Amino acid sequence: MPTIQHADSYYAASANPSPDRPALSGSTRTDVCVIGAGFTGISAGLFLAEQGFKVTVLEAARVGWGASGRNGGQIVNSYSRDIDVIERTAAPEQAALLGKMAFEGAQIIRQRVARYGIQCDLKDGGIFAALTGKQLDHLEQQQRLWERYGNDKLSLLDQADIARRVGSSRYVGGLLDMSGGHIHPLNLVLGEAAALESLGGVIHEQSAVTRIEHGQPATVHTADGQVEARFVIVAGNAYLGNLLPQLAAKSMPCGTQVITTEALDEDLALSLLPQDDCVEDCNYLLDYYRLSADRRLIYGGGVTYGARDPANVEALIRPKLLKTFPQLEGVRIDYAWTGNFLLTLSRLPQVGRLGENIYYSQGCSGHGVTYTHLAGKVLAEALRGQAERFDAFASLPHYPFPGGRLLRVPFTAMGAWYYQMRDKFGI
Ligand SMILES: Cc1cc2nc3c(=O)[nH]c(=O)nc-3n(C[C@H](O)[C@H](O)[C@H](O)COP(=O)(O)OP(=O)(O)OC[C@H]3O[C@@H](n4cnc5c(N)ncnc54)[C@H](O)[C@@H]3O)c2cc1C
Repeated sequence: MPTIQHADSYYAASANPSPDRPALSGSTRTDVCVIGAGFTGISAGLFLAEQGFKVTVLEAARVGWGASGRNGGQIVNSYSRDIDVIERTAAPEQAALLGKMAFEGAQIIRQRVARYGIQCDLKDGGIFAALTGKQLDHLEQQQRLWERYGNDKLSLLDQADIARRVGSSRYVGGLLDMSGGHIHPLNLVLGEAAALESLGGVIHEQSAVTRIEHGQPATVHTADGQVEARFVIVAGNAYLGNLLPQLAAKSMPCGTQVITTEALDEDLALSLLPQDDCVEDCNYLLDYYRLSADRRLIYGGGVTYGARDPANVEALIRPKLLKTFPQLEGVRIDYAWTGNFLLTLSRLPQVGRLGENIYYSQGCSGHGVTYTHLAGKVLAEALRGQAERFDAFASLPHYPFPGGRLLRVPFTAMGAWYYQMRDKFGI
């Protein structure tokens, strides 16, 4: 079978050295078999290895090949729907528990980077940028909400403040979160994978799981081998396909695209983002951007429902970049790529168990860098028999997409169009 390499991204081109891991061949036994070597799978595996579990990870392509190695690198706190939505829909104790966890993922990332000496260009500081007065009002409410749950690193920015931090005239204000920030995501997951291996964990790349046999132990099959495991963690997210139809039925892979400019002259880079913050705007279909360590602008946006790969990513994203920074007219784009995240109807993650010993977490719907790190911890707790926090996530309702696998794409695109129009007209 041909080997699968990383997408042709800026991250792959600037990745720290990492070995090719051999594909699984023959039979082996382990405590925990993890399917998927993105942030969710590697985070769970690393927590479990730290606690003495024998962990085997099976990855269809390479470590970090999926969304985790291609994303905007923005450490965004909370979930894709915020805690106020959870407060309105969940029981009060459950909402309180989920609210308390909303800032933990960012802490886990920082602890891991420090503990294992991971070189991933970690920077503090993320801005939510408001394009309208209505969005700024919403950010003010968000600040109060997040402060209530313990985030004391927030400052509201008025138009003059944001102009000092972002060299674009599009914004009326923003919310700065110094517990947010940014990283080189592929280097983070590669560093975490190396940490897992240093604790005895085993990772097989080019090892797509083709079948899971329920039982105690469960048996996880690839084309050339099988793993018997007391527990299985399914962490394939948007790339899982139809391996477990019950997970595919309630989620939808979506694409989002990223471009990266040539390295910018120091003065120009400083004029765009003088404090080196990362930025995402408050639109439903949002733009997100930041500088790389070598002063390239990494700019992402757009959504393709159903995850069809667009023919020309640069043609899609360059106009968005120029709308924000017209001063970059003529700048060269060195990299352009697409990646898939997994959307759920509620835009909240789906966490649960299939049978006795097969656990999953999926569908963080666009904001996953922090949540996936938290999910790894919560899954590891559940495997050790401490399921309170796992249960808080697991009892969030999971809805099937209207229209089923056939019509979910047009139905969702129509919904998104409605929200895009509301953003456009500021209503
Ligand atoms: C372009 C892009 C930009 C984004 N930007 C941001 C951002 O700036 N901030 C933020 O918070 N979130 C962002 N996200 C979302 C975030 O990246 C994801 O939510 C998160 O990385 C998901 O991690 P994961 O480990 O669950 O899935 P993935 O990283 O996708 O990993 C799943 C892995 O499972 C493997 N796999 C699947 N099926 C099998 C199988 N059968 N056998 C073996 N292996 C299998 C895949 O090969 C893949 O490597 C972005 C997403 C994309 C696509």
